[in-house]
Amino acid sequence: MRAAQRTEGYRLYRRAYRAKNREKLNLQAREPNRRRYYALTPEQRQTRREYHNRYLKQYLQTNSEARRKKDANLVIHLLRRNGWLTPQPCQRCGHTDHLDAHHPDYDRPLDVIWLCRTHHNELHHPLPTEEADNERRPFKGPRPLPP
Ligand SMILES: [Zn+2]
Ligand SMILES: [Zn+2]
Repeated sequence: MRAAQRTEGYRLYRRAYRAKNREKLNLQAREPNRRRYYALTPEQRQTRREYHNRYLKQYLQTNSEARRKKDANLVIHLLRRNGWLTPQPCQRCGHTDHLDAHHPDYDRPLDVIWLCRTHHNELHHPLPTEEADNERRPFKGPRPLPP
């Protein structure tokens, strides 16, 4: 079985587990040791938020690809929110809900391809193909111990 299939199966398994054990999991979530974030004082939370914002700002300043991506997404978000840009059906399957605007090039923020969430994810995170699987180094047993 391929790794991606295992992951998909595991995701489905976890979803079923969560649905079945919702009450138990809700109780667990209320235990004090699981609520460290919310156990913070407002000042501590503020400090953490400031640290995160500083980190994010620095990250966007040093990573130009991330910066351009964020700007392109902001443009689309604002246009959609104001109704100046109407989402088109998914180019792959024609779905009309959960539509994402995909940027083939972040330097051209208005040049987008409309895809449903599923096909957008598929585009960015393609499943490993059979060839890629075969190219992977075969497992030859555990590494020998050093002498
Ligand atoms: Zn689609
Ligand atoms: Zn995309």
